[in-house]
Amino acid sequence: MPGFELFGDLERKEVNDVLDNGVLMRYGFDGMRKGHWKAKALEKELQNTFKSKYVQLVSSGTAAVTVALASAGVGAGDEVIMPAFTFVASFEAIMMLGAIPVLVDIDDTLCLNPKAIENAITPKTKAIMVVQMCGSMANMDAIQAVANRHNVLVVEDACQAIGGSYKGKPLGSIGNLGCFSFDFVKTITCGEGGAVVTNNEKYYINADHYSDHGHDHIGNDRGAESHPFLGYNFRISELHAAVGLAQVKRLPEFLDIQKRNFNILREALAEIPEVTFRAVPDGGVESCAFLNFSLPDLETASKVSNGFKEHGVDACWNYYNNNWHYIRRWDHLKDLKSLYPISEDVKNALLNLKHQDFSISDHFIGRNISCLIKLSWTEDEVKARAKKMSEIIRGVLN
Ligand SMILES: *Cc1c(COP(=O)(O)O)cnc(C)c1O
Repeated sequence: MPGFELFGDLERKEVNDVLDNGVLMRYGFDGMRKGHWKAKALEKELQNTFKSKYVQLVSSGTAAVTVALASAGVGAGDEVIMPAFTFVASFEAIMMLGAIPVLVDIDDTLCLNPKAIENAITPKTKAIMVVQMCGSMANMDAIQAVANRHNVLVVEDACQAIGGSYKGKPLGSIGNLGCFSFDFVKTITCGEGGAVVTNNEKYYINADHYSDHGHDHIGNDRGAESHPFLGYNFRISELHAAVGLAQVKRLPEFLDIQKRNFNILREALAEIPEVTFRAVPDGGVESCAFLNFSLPDLETASKVSNGFKEHGVDACWNYYNNNWHYIRRWDHLKDLKSLYPISEDVKNALLNLKHQDFSISDHFIGRNISCLIKLSWTEDEVKARAKKMSEIIRGVLN
């Protein structure tokens, strides 16, 4: 996945353009920039990449999720359904707006379970946050059907699935709004950055203003701008956008390498009868940022995961006890460890998490191993890695 592995002259050239004219800010300073508008140019590229009418760059993927929800009017008292397996940014963004995170089970796609969503819908549900985890996707048709039935929004977090698609549409472009991260370990990187994509003009205008203090961005003179509503600073800088502009042009090359490396590993592991792979919905094409496979049970998966560590197979995780990605170890969330007071309705929802049954998610996450696919591996290195992984797995199974 990580774009940082492949840095080069293109990135340097784009950054030097910005350094040469000294305008590090994405808005205004029209005269000084000598025609360089890196954030604007990157937004234009991303419109094509993600087949979306509108793109708003922001300072991070977490900011993107926050801005997407805010732009659609999600706030205090609203419930947002999210998966129990994701990154901590999902509930952080929801709670930042005073909304209530409602955590539900995943299914064999390792993404949101449409039935679990349906069971969790209440009159307060405003949005379903689908997180396209580890390069693949949820069953979007089934989720869209639930959303339509109950008239709630679908916000797609495609931070880990840049380049994946579902029925011909780029992941992130399917819901009412989509979110991307270009942090240091994502498939393309800006250093820190993110984007909100949508086909809805109103949400886009909201995102544009909200991510820059509510400034309306009308006219060239920044001082004359007015504030149609309250905002915040989630801006990206020109320096970051410049890196992203170079990286997005290399995305097809990155995806090809990812796919080659993914297929070598997958084919090797597929020869082991006890190894199964995550379900990919009909019409889905993985980004190949990760290879996810399952072993018969938690004990075997733990042994394999430990075996990988002992034998130097890096970048593979069993997420069952991982405190970045899975509900079981989000103690800071379940124990309400907030620096500042939280509203009663959010508190009650969080206290509930300790007693909630996530056995379905435990079943899938416990048996799963997720391996990051690196771009820097040569073909020979991946083959050697595949051989080593197979030997370790067979050793545990025997
Ligand atoms: C990386 C990531 C984010 C947050 O992105 P940042 O740019 O690091 O803030 C959000 N959601 C998922 C699924 C991610 O993997």
